[in-house]
Amino acid sequence: MVVLYFGQLIHYERVRLGDNCTVYQAGLVGLKLAAEFILTLRTTRRVNVYSDSRSALKSLADPTNTHPLVGEVKRFLKRAKPERGMFLPWVKAHVGYHGNELADGEAKAAADSPSVSLDLPVSSSRFKFKLKSFIIQAWQDHWDYTPNKGRFTSSNILNVSLETHFWGEMAELFTGHCRFQAHLFRFGIGYVDSCACGAVGDAKHYIVSCPLTGDLTARLRFNPFDLSTLVHDFNLPVLGEIVRSQNIFGVCP
Ligand SMILES: [Zn+2]
Repeated sequence: MVVLYFGQLIHYERVRLGDNCTVYQAGLVGLKLAAEFILTLRTTRRVNVYSDSRSALKSLADPTNTHPLVGEVKRFLKRAKPERGMFLPWVKAHVGYHGNELADGEAKAAADSPSVSLDLPVSSSRFKFKLKSFIIQAWQDHWDYTPNKGRFTSSNILNVSLETHFWGEMAELFTGHCRFQAHLFRFGIGYVDSCACGAVGDAKHYIVSCPLTGDLTARLRFNPFDLSTLVHDFNLPVLGEIVRSQNIFGVCP
């Protein structure tokens, strides 16, 4: 927080917030520091407090907001406004306003400080974000190091994600659940697990090494030693043809 008097820097305060604090909380703390400073003044009646935190200013203007920090800042402002004629305009950030640039510099200097001077309770949004990151990382570790299950899928889908990337036959293909011989045989359907060429008829075989699907796989653009390179939009139509071709070579009754 910086204080200018006719364009001259006359005071500044650096507060190093905890690592889990959000930009929103930082904006509110800045306004609280400004209000506290204004209440110490005895020589002026008119003060403008410029903030580039639109979310903080909107929260202060919202009578239904119940955020504890917003309530605290409101209490200071309630005193500072009538006593010191305080105004609270919003100012656009990073467009070269002198005071805003100075405040940014102080904020960066405070962030570089090794010791935390103010730690606030973790916001619910930050908590959810951290929890989600933690769960996804645990899922990724499980995905990377599970020895037996889903290894074909993990070889072509390297990273776990909450987004659904594939449906239908593509989801079946990338998870090895197509109606290929090896998969059907596993469930007692069909007499053998092998392709007509003699090798085990699983998804990887039909994509990488089967001579009977050679004319189709020749149209794929991928590195056979890195199946994650297979997962591209331009390969999907050909992969669909490989999935549907299984009936041609199948030995199902
Ligand atoms: Zn084959």
